[in-house]
Amino acid sequence: MKIAVAEINIGALLYNVEVVRKLAPTSKILAMIKANAYGHGYLEVAESLTNVDAFGVARLDEAIKLRDAGVKKSIVLLEGFFDKDELMIIAEKQLETVLHNKQQVIDFINADLPQPIKVWLKLDTGMHRIGLAPEEMASCYNQLTQHKNILATPTILTHLACADELEHPLNNQQINLFNQLCLDIEGERSIANSAAIMSLPETHLDWVRPGIMMYGASAMADSDAAEHDLKPVMTLKSSVIAVRDVPKGGSVGYGATWVAKQNTKIAVVAIGYGDGYPRNAGNGTPVLINSIEYPLVGRVSMDMITVDLGQSTEIKVGDEVILWGEGLPIERVARHANSIAYELLCGVTGRVTKQYKN
Ligand SMILES: *Cc1c(COP(=O)(O)O)cnc(C)c1O
Repeated sequence: MKIAVAEINIGALLYNVEVVRKLAPTSKILAMIKANAYGHGYLEVAESLTNVDAFGVARLDEAIKLRDAGVKKSIVLLEGFFDKDELMIIAEKQLETVLHNKQQVIDFINADLPQPIKVWLKLDTGMHRIGLAPEEMASCYNQLTQHKNILATPTILTHLACADELEHPLNNQQINLFNQLCLDIEGERSIANSAAIMSLPETHLDWVRPGIMMYGASAMADSDAAEHDLKPVMTLKSSVIAVRDVPKGGSVGYGATWVAKQNTKIAVVAIGYGDGYPRNAGNGTPVLINSIEYPLVGRVSMDMITVDLGQSTEIKVGDEVILWGEGLPIERVARHANSIAYELLCGVTGRVTKQYKN
């Protein structure tokens, strides 16, 4: 019996990368494998992604683990170093780093490095999270370009706040400011995350930075992945461990929040928030059993959920259950849980067994 298994379809992963290639045929691909490859297992994903040009991670220890496991491709630290001592490791491990504030630029210039490092310079064009302010850009760039610590010309990047909303005015403001700031400088350029890859071709430039779309979920606020020809990579599965009769007026689960309006049968499925199934998933969240959708009812427990099968059913203990993935878009489940596909994927816990298949 499958109890909390995440099947990872490597064929779908590679297929989705080809979708990226078709959308942005002249761009290089910086594949985002931060946060354990969005919950899919960073090492297996990195080793499978032979069709990308570089990897992006958010933490130094993720990058070190990849290098130490023998990953040879470029690895970019998206937020740079948090402590200047880390620069030595970045150089030794031949990692690449983003520089996103003046202090990082100063620390980089003053470091006594064993070898030069490839640098990505991040500009804040309006998201106001990380990045150099427009007025800091020229002086930082000039200090860096001829410096002994730098390998090649910096690549310039920025991040869009609203790429998943096509009509949002901030998109054009950010793109225009970026282009203006880059006007007189050399170096490769990068703007596009998944949403921009899908919907803003003018942002593709030298490097695209896909994350969520590689994993087969939509980056757009209002559409599912299949509409973009993406295939789900993770299918989260479990099994029915009990089928019970609940009489009209009987409640189900903690807090007795759901009450049967008529006699019904309830399936108990062995997955819960201890596995990363979202506790906020409300009554009516779709659950797929033997290819038929049933509504989740009652609160999500740590190890179990309960599903309303209706008055008569053929479903029995041991039947396979799909929580999201093939046949059930994760975006739909996320909407019922007031969440997004990103959070659900990253939230799958270590208790869930990953099974890789081609
Ligand atoms: C995570 C990340 C991405 C990928 O975003 P998706 O929406 O998952 O495609 C792109 N760029 C940067 C800088 C990131 O941190």
